[in-house]
Amino acid sequence: TASGSTLLEVAGLCRSFDGVFAVREVDLAVAPGELRAVIGPNGAGKSTLFGLIGGQLRADAGTVVYDGDRIDRLPAHRRARTGIAVVFQGARVFAGMTVLENVMVGAHADTRAGFFSAVTRLGRHRADERAIAPTARECLARTGLSDWADRPAEALPLGQQRVVQVARALCGNPRLLLLDEPASGLRAAEREALVNLIAELRAEGLTMLLVEHDVAFVTRLADRVTVLDLGRVIAEGTPAEIRADEKVVAAYLGT
Ligand code: ADP
Ligand code: MG
Repeated sequence: TASGSTLLEVAGLCRSFDGVFAVREVDLAVAPGELRAVIGPNGAGKSTLFGLIGGQLRADAGTVVYDGDRIDRLPAHRRARTGIAVVFQGARVFAGMTVLENVMVGAHADTRAGFFSAVTRLGRHRADERAIAPTARECLARTGLSDWADRPAEALPLGQQRVVQVARALCGNPRLLLLDEPASGLRAAEREALVNLIAELRAEGLTMLLVEHDVAFVTRLADRVTVLDLGRVIAEGTPAEIRADEKVVAAYLGT
């Protein structure tokens, strides 16, 4: 890549809401193939940071460089086209659609019409549908969902609905996947399955940013951890370094 050892480079990124900083002068450099965890208390700015990278939000200041190109002025669908996919916090599967149809939406996520019109387009363009179904089935196989392909997505247990979200994101063939609290609300066995899936994606070389509250979950998965507090990066390092960092313990771990 043009950017050498950095796939994503965020510099001086700022975003405020109603005069209050949600993200404040954030710098972040992520290497290709890295799994970077982003942790911090509620309201620290984690989801806002993801929105600024994915393009759902515009930065007030700062830059986002992806694969050597500035993308911070691009709309979300153009960023998706360059290979950035986001699984949003609290995202739901589309009710009234099968698992396969839910995943097929992901193949349209990078089109000009964008994600939401992609939902309404499904079913109207049968030729499109035939073209993307094999890709979608591949994503289902990759995530262990093949047996569920024709079930209504909302009938699946929550853990598998989360996997459907991941499968949908993969269907756009991303090079950078942002996962915002994918394990929240899941039972232990479901979390375990998700950890295994994320570990497999990492082994395949996919670059990921992962927001997660459970420090044990993060420690098992992440190469490096970035800690946000009140919109600022207060620490960055390996999981072991982060667990030993007094600032982190004070701000976040609370122990
Ligand atoms: P986190 O994901 O770390 O919990 P968020 O990025 O969601 O934090 O929020 C960071 C701060 O920005 C919070 O104070 C939140 O209330 C505020 N915020 C986030 N999104 C909006 C918005 N759309 N409008 C107003 N304030 C927002
Ligand atoms: Mg959040």
